[in-house]
Amino acid sequence: MTSILDIILLVSIPVHVLVMLYLQFNHIPTRLRPTWLQLALLGSLLGVAVLYLPEAMVLPVPLTRQFLSVLALALALVFYGQYMLRDALNRSVGLWLPIGLIWPVALLAAGLTSSEIRVGQADWLLTVFSGAYLPGLITLVGLGVVTALLLVLSFYGFYAAALPEIANRALFWVLDTAMIAIGVLLSVSGTNMFHGIGAILVLAALIGAAYAHLAHGIVDIRSGMRGAARTALLIALTTAVIFGALQIADRLPVTEVGYPLALLLVAVLGGTAYVVLRQLVGLIVRRWFLQRPSPTRAARQYSQQVSKVVELSELVRVAAETLNQVMGVRRSGMILVNDTSIDSQRVEVVVMRETGSAGDVKGYLHRTGPVYDWLAVKKLPLRQFDMVYGPPFRELNADERKFFQSLQMSAYAPIIMEDALVGILMCGPKRSDASFTTADLELLATMADQTGVALRNSRAMADLRHLNATMKALNEELEEANQQYEKLDSVKTDFITIASHELRTPLAQIRGYTDILDALNEQGMLDQDQIGSMVSNLRKATERTEELLSAMLDMSQLDVNAMDLRFAQAAPESVVRMAIEPLTEHIKQRKLTVSARGLRSMPPIHCDMQRLVQAFRNIISNAIKFTPDGGRIDITASAQPGENGAGDHVLISISDTGVGIDKENLELIFEKFYRAYDPSLHSTGAYKFMGAGPGLGLTIARGVIEGHGGKVWAESSGHNMETGPGSTFYVLLPVNPPEDARRVAIEDTSHRNPLPASRSVG
Ligand code: ADP
Repeated sequence: MTSILDIILLVSIPVHVLVMLYLQFNHIPTRLRPTWLQLALLGSLLGVAVLYLPEAMVLPVPLTRQFLSVLALALALVFYGQYMLRDALNRSVGLWLPIGLIWPVALLAAGLTSSEIRVGQADWLLTVFSGAYLPGLITLVGLGVVTALLLVLSFYGFYAAALPEIANRALFWVLDTAMIAIGVLLSVSGTNMFHGIGAILVLAALIGAAYAHLAHGIVDIRSGMRGAARTALLIALTTAVIFGALQIADRLPVTEVGYPLALLLVAVLGGTAYVVLRQLVGLIVRRWFLQRPSPTRAARQYSQQVSKVVELSELVRVAAETLNQVMGVRRSGMILVNDTSIDSQRVEVVVMRETGSAGDVKGYLHRTGPVYDWLAVKKLPLRQFDMVYGPPFRELNADERKFFQSLQMSAYAPIIMEDALVGILMCGPKRSDASFTTADLELLATMADQTGVALRNSRAMADLRHLNATMKALNEELEEANQQYEKLDSVKTDFITIASHELRTPLAQIRGYTDILDALNEQGMLDQDQIGSMVSNLRKATERTEELLSAMLDMSQLDVNAMDLRFAQAAPESVVRMAIEPLTEHIKQRKLTVSARGLRSMPPIHCDMQRLVQAFRNIISNAIKFTPDGGRIDITASAQPGENGAGDHVLISISDTGVGIDKENLELIFEKFYRAYDPSLHSTGAYKFMGAGPGLGLTIARGVIEGHGGKVWAESSGHNMETGPGSTFYVLLPVNPPEDARRVAIEDTSHRNPLPASRSVG
């Protein structure tokens, strides 16, 4: 006779086949291959099918149909484990199969060696422990061990999962494993009724596994359980209220008049109590089970916070803080996409720290990769879980996968600006450990859109600031150019002033002598002596003019920073000697004594010899000019060790017994065109006592010496024409000039601090 149970079992056979075939031929791309699952289905199918082998078929002793069914189910459980562990632990567990297979193999061996196998027959379970009954013991112990191992391992997957969605999947496997294990236990129990239920449970668990295989996102089990708990709580409440009301109604004394009224009263009281209690429960449930703020409120709060800031760093911080709060997540952040379009293959992504600065974490998104496609082309939010399990992301490049894994985030939403991906807003796992629902992702996407607007503002602000800075820089350049122009202009004016003033004297002389020459010539009164003296005077005037012009030229070069120095080794002694040489005639005429000390022992210095000779000549010729006839000029040199890490120096002093310089003029004499004495005092002879000069000699000397990285200064106790207190000029020169001493510019010396007069002179 065929019972309903038999019908169900027989129907389950084609269902097995259909599921196996579906797994084989479906078009949904899946992460794992379904082979082990199909083998488990085959085991389960055989577990049912062998029971229906025709009676006529005789099995070799001692095998029975029931024993073969148990064996097939044992294999089904082991194969199921092989598939499940790979998914739940997210890595292959190579050891499982050899360990798991010990059970069916041992079972088969025990069966074949026993005289009689009772396993799978009615009441075999009760007799397992009576006497040494190996196949029975192996069946039970094996089932226990295999089930325990699978449960522990899948539970470990749940425990170790980094993301709630992955934990949810692992939890699903824990439940599914429990179901298939119970199914197998019932199936092998030997009781017809239990066997039917067990077989259905096994099939259901395997269909569940097939569902998990095909769908990477599994129904949220924890929120499902919470929902069930909530419903159970409400049912219990409603039942309690109704039961209470019925109890009261039952106790009411039945009187004809008041009874319906009393019932109504009880109903009203019950109803009122129910409404109040229901609301209370609702409040508690929302508090404990939902914990989610309203999305509109969250979006508004986020938008309010984010729109307040314009600085990028501030934006990142505020966005992260607000997201943490409104989404109830443990962490959040932002990635900026650096699409330089130079790289046609990929875009750079930079993780912004919560402090707003760009972090060290950088990565790349391939333009052809699934993540870029999802975020930038489809413009959809994405869960980390989908990236790990989702079929579209199977081809994800290993570096990108690692990059996103390292962020420890749960969900990402693209920040789009002008149709281009400019950033990614991201959230970590929720504090409640709940999964990210579609509604959560939509909320995150909305916030990412708002971030796009804020980002645009912050970029606009940055652009404005950049523009401002550029304008300021331009202004400064303009100002500098202006100053340079003014300087050039004043050089020109100075040049004209000095030219008109200083050149007038020698030119007038030239003019005068030529006029005289002309007149004498006309009168035929020119004799050889006159010609000789006049030509000599004319030469002097011309030389003077040349000197002046060349000084003015040097000056203008210094003024516009155009004097080039050509450095070479030279002995200080040669420099001073060459400076004095052309002056010896005048020194003789003026009966001056010149002495030099210590110059020979000086080390050679790096200098532009020609320029340095010019500088010394200017100083020494001043000493000649401002010292009365018969006076003395002493030149001394000493080596100065470098101080504060500076290299060695040579100090040369030039002292005279001349008219001296007033203390307040000691610095002023280095100024352009400065002459300490009334120009009317100037004699026209260039080297005569108190001879005229344009006031450029010391300025040029200082320019040249400073160009060598050196210093020049004057010391004197004061000016006195009668007593002749004398002056000393010091020149300090580095043996090796600093790197930047190539070009020379005259500084505005009006605020220069004069060097201390007490400076030691060796
Ligand atoms: P100048 O062409 O007039 O010589 P300088 O720049 O060489 O111009 O000197 C500037 C002024 O400094 C001189 O006019 C003079 O008043 C003063 N001066 C320079 N050297 C001496 C010195 N050795 N003794 C006194 N006064 C000096």
